Parts: sequence; structure tokens; C-alpha cells
Amino acid sequence: MTHCNFYIDGQWVDALEPGTPHPIINPATEESVGTVVMGGVADADRAVLTARRAFDSYSQLSQEQRTALLTKLLGVMERRYTEMAQAISTEMGAPWNLAYDSQAECGTGHITATLEAAKSYPFEVKSGNGDLMLEPIGVCVLITPWNWPMNQIMAKMAPALLAGCTVVLKPSEFSPLSAKLTAECVAEAGYPPGVFNLVYGDGPVVGACLSAHPEVDMVSFTGSTAAGIAVAKAAADTVKRVVQELGGKSPNIIFADSDVEKSVARGVKRCMNNTGQSCNAPTRMLIERSVYDRAVEAAAKAGAEVKVIQPTEKGDGVGPLAMKRQYETVKRFIDIGMDCGARLLVGGPGRPEGFDKGYFVRPTIFADVTNEMPIARQEIFGPVLCLIPFEDEEDAIRIANDTPYGLAAYLSTNDKVRARRVAKRLRAGNVSVNASGNEYCNPFGGYKQSGNGREWGRFGLHEFMEYKIINGL
Ligand code: NAD
Repeated sequence: MTHCNFYIDGQWVDALEPGTPHPIINPATEESVGTVVMGGVADADRAVLTARRAFDSYSQLSQEQRTALLTKLLGVMERRYTEMAQAISTEMGAPWNLAYDSQAECGTGHITATLEAAKSYPFEVKSGNGDLMLEPIGVCVLITPWNWPMNQIMAKMAPALLAGCTVVLKPSEFSPLSAKLTAECVAEAGYPPGVFNLVYGDGPVVGACLSAHPEVDMVSFTGSTAAGIAVAKAAADTVKRVVQELGGKSPNIIFADSDVEKSVARGVKRCMNNTGQSCNAPTRMLIERSVYDRAVEAAAKAGAEVKVIQPTEKGDGVGPLAMKRQYETVKRFIDIGMDCGARLLVGGPGRPEGFDKGYFVRPTIFADVTNEMPIARQEIFGPVLCLIPFEDEEDAIRIANDTPYGLAAYLSTNDKVRARRVAKRLRAGNVSVNASGNEYCNPFGGYKQSGNGREWGRFGLHEFMEYKIINGL
């Protein structure tokens, strides 16, 4: 049983204002594996004031000193890499290969990308007759979700610390183990007390208090659009910077001139990856009408091949949903899909065969979906794919952009000129042509209600900086 308490001012401490402890449930077994201490306003306040005190000295360290600390953190995280994969697999049910190859890798990957970006970052440059300084913005609150827990923590924390900010991390109470291990690594790396602080608590109390706190200079938030809006509203009175990385309902356009079967199969796989719990999952597959029947057949085949596996199992496959709340939501959306006139192609209600406990659902594909149906409009955050036919290029672009979100978009075509033309018209921060992936050095973030920030590499570093021009030096 793991006890997750707070890391504040270089010490492990319990809550000043404890709420009801949050059970850590292994989603594959539904059994409790520990508890999370849930704090209150006094705990949020203590963490922020600690980070504020530490800021004065930490922000004055040289760039070389901060780089050396982050490099030490990388070394510790590399050494404890397997433990990180284990923590993530336990807390949110990621199957072993996903947890080890992808989820845990995000931690070391983002630190490496940040260190690389810093080498050529213009911390101090001449501008006109002045000296332009890029300085750490100050005390930063990092609020993160549970679905790619290490990705979200490290995409914020590595650049914030390298920039010279001090931080208060409030991770999701549904993924406390990876956050606890991160704090242990920070301690081992030798960061000065107060530079990194960790508190657990719920969104409406602790998250809201951190967002509104007058001693906080910036909130970097990743999570649902609804919570992101609440954070921005709470932060508004103190005019702090709010960076939002929010939800998505990403289109995946399959043109008739692509290798249709291959494009559909990789689209299905990509949507189901991480049990559909990725903000940038391609959940709306838009298929050119002239190849629609072929594509539906290919989707049925690929969908039937998606294996559901236990998190402890090695190999390809999807695990359980991360928690009961998510399990209930996804089941509800599968029922909505059945009721709203879509054609069930693969999966459907109930647990997969051979699973009688755990938050496992059947990977599900609906055909003949219209973009107006709730399953095509709302973020389900589970392994549910919608197949939507389109008439021509113009129609594909219209449907792709007809969503409040704008995080990612995918397209498959063998016509490079068309790929560029269409990609430029998609209102999304990340466009993938023929399944190419995004590298850590490139920006990650969304248009419209998917957020206003850009993380990763030098773009992520830039979020934590403030400009200062000094004239007359
Ligand atoms: P969530 O919004 O429920 O919670 C995210 C975090 O916000 C948690 O730490 C939570 O405690 C906190 N929170 C909730 N309400 C709050 C409030 N009023 N004030 C302050 N903090 C609050 O989201 P989730 O279920 O943990 O994660 C899934 C969501 O995150 C999905 O919508 C997904 O698309 C999104 N997401 C986006 C990205 C991205 O980079 N754009 C990446 C991953 C996940």
C-alpha cells in the first residue's frame, strides 16, 4: 500500500487541512493499492508561499547551474525508468509495453529536449540599442491530468525549472504514483528546497485556490476544456498568465488516393492506443465516399484485431480505462451511439470476453456517423471511433473543422500537393500527414477550445519566460 503525501520545501509532509483520502485503485483489478492525502486551501497556500520564497535565490542561479541540476534529474530518472513505467501502469492501467516504451519515455524525452533547446535559446540578446532579457516568469502552478501523466508533468516541469521558475505541481489524484516518484527524483537530484513542491487535492478546492493565488505568476494547465475555463476565470483577477492544453476531437481524413486499407488500419490503431485516452486521438475518421465501403470493411477488420490485455501483459493491446468515472462515461457514449442511428461495426456494450472485473470496455467502432451526432461532437476519451463519409476535399475540410476543438488533425493521401493544401486549411495545432509523428523539438498545442499554449522543446521553454528590455546598459 502506497501512502502519497506532499513534498514541500524539500520535506515529505502530511496535510495541514486533510480532506477524505483518495483511494488509489488499480483499474485492472478494482483493488486499492494505496491512498492519496488530499489537501485543502492551507496546503495550497503553504506550497505557493514556499515556492515564492525559493524563487529569489533559484532564479538567480546561472544558466549553467540550472542546466547541471536538470541534467542530474535526467540521470536519476534514467536510473529509475523501470519504476516509473511500473507506477504509470499501476495507477492508470497502461499495458506494460505502452507504459515502458511510450508513457515513461516522455519523462526523459522532455528533459532531453529541454536541455537541447536551452543550448540555442536566446536568454539574452541585443535588441535595438537595448539588451533584451528572457527571464523566468516566477512561481508556476502546474496542474496535470492522469492520461499521459509523465508526459504532462515533464512537458511543464522541465522547461519551468530550466527557465528558473519555482513550481507547485498538482497532479491528478488519479495518477499520484508517477508524481510521487518524480518528487523523489527531484530530491535525489539535489534541487534546493522549495524549488519543486507537490500537493495533491481536488480541482474545485485546491486547483481553484492555486489558480486564484496572488503569489502565483503563471498557471500551466492540462485537462478538460471545462476545468481549463474554470482555471482561467479563477486566475483572471490576479492577471496571471494562464496556459491551457485542453481536449480534442481530432479528425483523420482518408482520401481515396491514399493506400486506403493501410491508412484505415493505422487510424484505428492510433485511436485505440492508450485505450482511447489521448487528447490528440484521431476519433473522427472522415472517409471519401468513393472508397467508403472498402474503408468500413478495413476498419471492421482492424477493429476486430485490437486486443484487450491486462496491464501486466507484454505485447500490443489496450488495457482498461483508468478509472470508474471514465468507465461509466465511455459505456454511456456507446449506448448513445447505439441510440442515435449510427451503425455498430465493432465492439459495443459490455466487457470484452474473458474479463469479468476491471474497467475494461470493448474497442468500439461506429459507421455511418454524422458530424452532428453527440458521439462525433463530444470528447469521449475512450476506445470509440466514428466513421463519417465525405464527398470531396472541400467537404472533408468543412467537417474536419466543424468542431469546437482544434488540437490535432490527421490526413492520408498520396498527393503531396493536396496534403499541403489541406493541412494548411485545418484549424489544428498538429497536423500529421500519412501517420508521421511529432518530435519533442516541435510545438504541441491546440487551436480554438483545445487551448492557447504550446509545449515541448523551445516552445515549452518560451511559455515560462518573461521579456525584459534594458536600455542604456
Ligand atoms: P480534468 O479537467 O478533470 O482534470 C485535470 C486536472 O485539473 C486535474 O489535476 C484536476 O484535479 C484539475 N482540475 C479539475 N477541475 C479544476 C478546477 N476547477 N480548477 C483547477 N484545477 C482543476 O481532466 P482529466 O480527466 O484529468 O484529463 C482528461 C482531459 O485532459 C481530456 O479532456 C483531455 O483531452 C485533456 N488533455 C489535454 C491534453 C493536451 O495537451 N491538450 C493532454 C492530455 C489531456
